[in-house]
Amino acid sequence: MAIRVLRELGKKQSEDFGPGDAVPHIEAVHAAPADPDVAEDPEDRTFCGKQTQDMERVNYQPSDPGAPWLPPDMGEWECRTCAAALRSQ
Ligand SMILES: [Zn+2]
Repeated sequence: MAIRVLRELGKKQSEDFGPGDAVPHIEAVHAAPADPDVAEDPEDRTFCGKQTQDMERVNYQPSDPGAPWLPPDMGEWECRTCAAALRSQ
């Protein structure tokens, strides 16, 4: 089954927070089913039930069925609910 990998980003820090990192941080990495009508798009909801419209797409597809569903360098943000749902596919 085709999936889309999505990043849930945290809110930017306010400008007056002080010097430093204003880059959005990753809250979690989720997976969603691919939209059957628009190949590049995910369905409206991730496997854990969150809306995909606010998330950023990750340009990653597992290279084979046994490969991890998310990029190896994003493993620390893996959404456990999505991961469990994918394992039970
Ligand atoms: Zn999730």
